[in-house]
Amino acid sequence: MPTWPFLPHKIDNELLSSFLVRTSHQYGTTAYSFCSHHFGTKTAIWNRDIDRSAPKSLIQRISDFSALSCKSVEKMTLRKYELTTCLTGSAHSPIQGFAPWINAIGVYHRDRKRFGLQYCPKCLQESPGFLKSWRLSFVTICQSHQLGLLDRCPECRAPVIPHRNHMHTLNCHNCNFRLDRAPGSLLGKTSQMHSLINFQNKLFKALHGLPVNIGRQEIPGRDVLAGAHILLSALRQKRCSKYSQLDDAGVGAIELSDTSERMTVLLFMDSLLEGWPQSFRDLSRQVCLDQKPFSNHSSIPNWIDIEIKRLPIYSRKHRTRIKRSRSPLEELRSLQRRKPPGWRSQRASILMELAGKYGH
Ligand SMILES: [Zn+2]
Ligand SMILES: [Zn+2]
Repeated sequence: MPTWPFLPHKIDNELLSSFLVRTSHQYGTTAYSFCSHHFGTKTAIWNRDIDRSAPKSLIQRISDFSALSCKSVEKMTLRKYELTTCLTGSAHSPIQGFAPWINAIGVYHRDRKRFGLQYCPKCLQESPGFLKSWRLSFVTICQSHQLGLLDRCPECRAPVIPHRNHMHTLNCHNCNFRLDRAPGSLLGKTSQMHSLINFQNKLFKALHGLPVNIGRQEIPGRDVLAGAHILLSALRQKRCSKYSQLDDAGVGAIELSDTSERMTVLLFMDSLLEGWPQSFRDLSRQVCLDQKPFSNHSSIPNWIDIEIKRLPIYSRKHRTRIKRSRSPLEELRSLQRRKPPGWRSQRASILMELAGKYGH
């Protein structure tokens, strides 16, 4: 007989954290008390991103208590997504730091400072669990209800932190507002909604390892996710007020952006990849993009690498600075001042050069 004989009803693709919160509430207690009672006070659960970093030992214990297989428990975490989205050769490890395309929740002790957990109020009405896909950065729309996802309490603007609720899984932990009663976020333009859904589906397909068409080429799913991420990071790095063409690309890591900003970014990426590679060539020319923002990636998928190699090594601005050499007189002054080893012979050859130039 498992220790938790009464489990809440199963919700497909639910996050492990959400499952633990619902189980705790089923036993009439808070997620903190329930977990410290069963796992001991020293087991870190709510002061970490448990959906990304649940250790094997914890998965085993949840499996023992719930009689669910280890595989089913592990399936509730984001590990499989991370292994697919992790960029080969990048500084991101599967557990520490950001995982590409997985929203950061900003763990601060037991609190969450960021808006990385999204939700659809209508889905919550039908099934009171938070889903894995709501943590993905390229997901901003609920397809079943054709609504934009929300990423905070509409009443007090607090991030969604279900484990801080006392009894009601779906209330805002801060002001008790019922999140499942939040008004759905309708997008202004239907065309934008369709573009977001199409792009979201494309990246979902890639996440599940299926090939995706970029422009006229068919690209393996993993390379699509890695390539689009590298491309976006480089453009976000390049963005400055000088180039309004990059305004919609945003700044910083996409995993830190809130849902409304990501919608703009994803629409931008959708149109860039739709016209690939010509759209990228045009944009690079307009914003003087060079190879530099791509240089910290050791492994770049072929479909973007071909285009990156067509870019200048340094942008025009940088090249101008490098090309501007000192005049012989400036060089003489500098030698006189610095006196580097062998400066006398260098001075002699500059003087000879000057004599040859002005001697007649
Ligand atoms: Zn929904
Ligand atoms: Zn609230």
